[in-house]
Amino acid sequence: MKRWSLKVKLTVLYTFFMTLVTCFALGVLFSLSSQELLSSVQSDLRQQVEESLEDVEAEEGWLNVDNDFYDLEDSVYLSLYSEQGEFLYGRLPYGYNAGAEFMNGQIQTIRDDQEEWYIYDVSYRIEGYGTVYFRGITSVTRAENSIAITIRLAVIILPLLVILTGIIGYRFTRRTLLPVQKITETVKKIRKDEDLSQRVGLGNGKDEIYQLSETFDQMLEELEETFKREQQFTSDVSHELRTPVTVILAQCEAMLQDPVFTSGQKEQVKVIEQKARSMARMISQLLLLSRADQGRQQVQKERLNLSELTQMIAEEQEILAREKEIQVLAEIQPDIYAQADESLYIRMLDNLISNAVNYGKKGGYVKVLLLEKENMVKGVVEDNGKGIPQESLPRIWERFYRVDTSRTDQEHSGLGLSMVKWIVQAHGGEITVESQEGQGSRFIFQIPED
Ligand code: ADP
Repeated sequence: MKRWSLKVKLTVLYTFFMTLVTCFALGVLFSLSSQELLSSVQSDLRQQVEESLEDVEAEEGWLNVDNDFYDLEDSVYLSLYSEQGEFLYGRLPYGYNAGAEFMNGQIQTIRDDQEEWYIYDVSYRIEGYGTVYFRGITSVTRAENSIAITIRLAVIILPLLVILTGIIGYRFTRRTLLPVQKITETVKKIRKDEDLSQRVGLGNGKDEIYQLSETFDQMLEELEETFKREQQFTSDVSHELRTPVTVILAQCEAMLQDPVFTSGQKEQVKVIEQKARSMARMISQLLLLSRADQGRQQVQKERLNLSELTQMIAEEQEILAREKEIQVLAEIQPDIYAQADESLYIRMLDNLISNAVNYGKKGGYVKVLLLEKENMVKGVVEDNGKGIPQESLPRIWERFYRVDTSRTDQEHSGLGLSMVKWIVQAHGGEITVESQEGQGSRFIFQIPED
């Protein structure tokens, strides 16, 4: 029952109650009408016998029976008997062989081999002839049969009626619950596309579900507004921070060149410079992501020789890797061209390789592969460093997520991979990761050539 949809539950519920109520109503109706039918059969029999008394007269010692004697309804058979019980005249029903005694003015119920009969006798004295018995016979079984036929008909019609109610009910419930389905679909779409601009948009209905959807849309409107304000705030803040950080960096550089400062002081300035650089990196990542959220980040694609660009980035990173005694090995298929944004591609690959170096093993390696396959450019950045625990793998793409905050130095913000993922997706591609803790990681990206 838990797994059934609301539509099915409602349909089953009212079909069940509908069946119950109909069965009960029919039961009551049939029992009342069968009693009513039998008593009306009896009174009909009585009336017909009594009316027929006038149809018989005596004429010169003989009985003269009027034509009306036979003029009866089909179901009642009339016959005339002498006082001693001898059959004188009349009709008996086909198959009737119950030899009932005469009981004046009483209805007897007699059963013979095949049927049950109501028999009504009236002893009547005819002037000039003597006493005779008028007997009326009618079949109870036939009357009951007519009820049985109706019951049988009901037994056939009722299930059909229940099925029909079920079908109509299901369609009606489905139509009524359609807005709920639309609300669910909207929520799913919002989650899938991460797009708060979606609305249920049911129009101006009056019922509760329409009101719910309207409230839901209003809530989405407010949420979207809040998100937009937050995005704008992040974008503004990162933008505003750019200038002071650039000034700090410029001042640091000037101080490092200035002979007035002692080497001890310069060491301190270097620390400031290093922190300012990581701040600048973080600010530019934040700016890119907030622009991306607002749909303002431009992607200027042009036909690029990705092989050359990748080679260049790998060589630049090699210098930094050398400090950690890490070897950068590049296996790049020559002359791979694709439509890409140069600065975004550089930021993406820079990030992947610098991560591989950063979380790499001293004396280890970083492999950078680039190849072309079925109109797709496939890139791999692999290291044999610390690796990522299995449970953290799905979360590394989240903003500000770092596997182990104590493991990394404070220069890392956890924004890099979110940016990388966005860049790859903005190029119509996708990126995946495979990693074993303690053994290394492999990031694989694929982007279409055009
Ligand atoms: P960060 O600026 O902290 O490097 P990223 O978004 O680039 O942020 O990466 C998120 C987290 O994923 C990192 O903190 C790190 O723990 C993990 N990670 C990324 N690349 C690697 C890698 N090559 N090897 C091991 N861990 C990695």
